[in-house]
Amino acid sequence: MSKSKGYAALTARAALVPYTFERREPRAHDVVIEIKYCGICHTDIHQVRSEWNDYLPESIFPMVPGHEIAGVVTATGSGVTKYKVGDKVGVGCFVDSCRTCPECKSGLEQYCTVHTVWTYNARDHEGVPTCGGYSDRIVVDENYVLRMPQALPLDACAPLLCAGITLYSPLRYWQAGPGKKVAIVGLGGLGHMGVKLTHALGAEVTVLSQSLKKQADGKRLGADHFYATSDPETFARLKGSFDLVINTVSAEIDWNQYLALLKVGGTMVLVGLPEKNIPVGAFALTGARRTLAGSQIGGIRETQEMLDFCGKHGITCDVEVIPIQKINEAYERVLKSDVRYRFVIDMASL
Ligand SMILES: [Zn+2]
Ligand SMILES: [Zn+2]
Repeated sequence: MSKSKGYAALTARAALVPYTFERREPRAHDVVIEIKYCGICHTDIHQVRSEWNDYLPESIFPMVPGHEIAGVVTATGSGVTKYKVGDKVGVGCFVDSCRTCPECKSGLEQYCTVHTVWTYNARDHEGVPTCGGYSDRIVVDENYVLRMPQALPLDACAPLLCAGITLYSPLRYWQAGPGKKVAIVGLGGLGHMGVKLTHALGAEVTVLSQSLKKQADGKRLGADHFYATSDPETFARLKGSFDLVINTVSAEIDWNQYLALLKVGGTMVLVGLPEKNIPVGAFALTGARRTLAGSQIGGIRETQEMLDFCGKHGITCDVEVIPIQKINEAYERVLKSDVRYRFVIDMASL
């Protein structure tokens, strides 16, 4: 075991404070990563505040959050073949899985039916709690490590590991591309990645935002169209327009109204997580053979494909880099949507 420094919530809903803990010694296939940057995901706040207790087996405190990890390899185990010291690498939302179930075997580790080892607030195969990226280093099996785009800044790439793949995976699965019309609901950390990726994939992209406040930004990010959902005209005008609607917001919305925006055979995908159950009228689906679907991050293979795609197209996140001492303030600002569009912690500040 070796000491690691970071920031943790010592108990549920507590503010984050400096914290020292143990990381395992690297095993044969482990990579030791010096963390340079870690993005702040809304999920971090949900977990620190124990808001997902209904969905998780347990919440583990002290909790070191962070699953948008970008850094540099500083050591490798004797059996590591994929990475060497000095490589720019990343770690996303999970650090291991069962490796044997059909989902793991087909590269869908995020849907492992046996045991996905989440990057924090989870237990590894030995039952040891995992600690995330708000820390100086992390030890991860090489098969769960990603290669970062070489030519792009590491800080602006960190959020690709959650926000980026969360949008890329459904866009690919539902075949966003030339000739397809895609709507992105919400222009936050997830939504702004959705706009950039959809545009780069060659589909026509429309932003549906609460107001027109971010319209100029939306266009700059690659949106072809921008509408305010507070304007009832929007839903009348866009009825039956889209092949794919990706909903990134976790607020309560009128689901039937959004489903009506889909063409015949269109799909609405949920990547945000509203707290309450979703009320959907059967006619909203049957009347046009529509699908309501959900999607959660992506597997290792697809996450690497997304990173390579971003490298090729020069896609990064719009980030505000902060020292870790401002973490609690940043959480408050995330809750007020007061960030364009993702906070990233500069770990040199630790
Ligand atoms: Zn996340
Ligand atoms: Zn599995």
